[in-house]
Amino acid sequence: LAEMLRDPALLRLKNLVGGIWTAAASERRHPVINPSTGCVIAEVPYSEAQDAHAAVTAAHAAFPAWSAMQPAERATLLKRWRDLIVENKDDLGTILAWEQGKPIKEAIGEVVYGASFVEWFAEEGKRIYGDVIPSPAANKRIVVIKQPVGVVGLITPWNFPSAMITRKAGPSLAAGCTVVLKPAEHTPLSALALGELALRAGIPPGVFNVVVTGDPAPIGDALTFDPRVRKISFTGSTRVGKLLMAQCAQSVKKVSLELGGNAAFIVFDDADLDSAVAGLMAVKFRNAGQTCISANRIYVHRKVYEEFAAKLTVALGGLVSGNPLDPAVSQGPLINRPALAKVDRLVSDAVQRGATVLAGGKPHALGGLFYEPTILTRVPPDAQMWHEEIFGPIVPLASFDSEDEVVASVNNTPYGLANYFYSRDIGRAWRVAERLESGMVGVNESWLSTEVAPFGGVKESGIGREGSKYGILDYVETKYVCFGGI
Ligand code: ADP
Repeated sequence: LAEMLRDPALLRLKNLVGGIWTAAASERRHPVINPSTGCVIAEVPYSEAQDAHAAVTAAHAAFPAWSAMQPAERATLLKRWRDLIVENKDDLGTILAWEQGKPIKEAIGEVVYGASFVEWFAEEGKRIYGDVIPSPAANKRIVVIKQPVGVVGLITPWNFPSAMITRKAGPSLAAGCTVVLKPAEHTPLSALALGELALRAGIPPGVFNVVVTGDPAPIGDALTFDPRVRKISFTGSTRVGKLLMAQCAQSVKKVSLELGGNAAFIVFDDADLDSAVAGLMAVKFRNAGQTCISANRIYVHRKVYEEFAAKLTVALGGLVSGNPLDPAVSQGPLINRPALAKVDRLVSDAVQRGATVLAGGKPHALGGLFYEPTILTRVPPDAQMWHEEIFGPIVPLASFDSEDEVVASVNNTPYGLANYFYSRDIGRAWRVAERLESGMVGVNESWLSTEVAPFGGVKESGIGREGSKYGILDYVETKYVCFGGI
């Protein structure tokens, strides 16, 4: 991998603690595997609780100076970090595609998208306004100030190895917090490369710490049970999110949770079908379907069902599976064996319950972790794939007759991250957008991700918002100061 990089020094194989590349206490190493070949591409530390503890100590020590720094000074450092990320986007994209398996174009796109959060929050950090509240007493004045929460533990997933980090680290650092990052086991290299660039940007030692490992639980325990850590920001499964939230209860830590979704994609009979097909292709097959806002349940009005399915089948034919570093490839492998087995299980279950395979439907002839882009039609409501995140390149279709019926079906899930619908009726567009129980809704649009808008879920999909002017508020405390004797 180092030979493929313009700057091999971006490949870091130790923890970043207090500004120093540090070996873990244990000599045990954790292999990083390229999912498209199954080969080991690097070995990183197998950190344990004491390594996390050392990183928290470093972050805690760095907090007073970092939080006292003027926001404009922090912004200058963060913008330098952002510039370095963008300058190194090709190398960072290569590292990302290698360890994660997404096509190189998507990988570079993620790096640049990730950098946009650093830039956005560098600016927002200057606008963390307080308030002056009219006092009920003549001799008092009431002032509200916002202060950084303190040391933040960041726990991030493998599906966006770069952007899920910057979207948490950006607002944390801009607000004046220091962080300990624990990236996912599958994708530590992108996190360590971001650490290298943070150092080069001049972000002071201890402000941004990275601890990598093959076993997340001891690190998660160390972060959640340490009273010096004041907040956990997590993106990942609902199961682990609940566990971390319960652990945080012990010391009443703040939590931001971006958890699983079960996004619906509704095509009404008045929709522009070509636009709906293009929207579905984009949101379903990005990252081979491995995103928390991937369309998971596709409801098409009975009147346009056959036509939509036919157009979709044609569009599916344009996908190319293969080596993620080949620029012609649009579909990489799934992340690991369990992911492939899950997709296979969900497809078999749907077919056993009466669904028909319109395209794909089995592991890809390329072998390894590749699965065929798949369309299933007439998927019955009891199929397991309606109730759990597929996280793979599978489109399940079902038909519906009325707006009320489809809204009820869509809302019938414990999740509430994103939903999408296509309709040209302005009244319906407002109505349905308001009735869908999710933190985000795409109306005639499936591309929601941008640093300027609040990303997050309701119900079991999470707590808090990332990006936008709202995102930074998750990293500050509100303090009320009462001045008397005036
Ligand atoms: P996914 O299904 O995306 O792999 P996970 O929730 O398992 O979702 O993983 C998301 C992140 O949570 C990863 O960084 C993973 O290492 C971490 N994680 C998993 N289990 C724990 C745990 N018990 N404590 C802390 N972090 C964990």
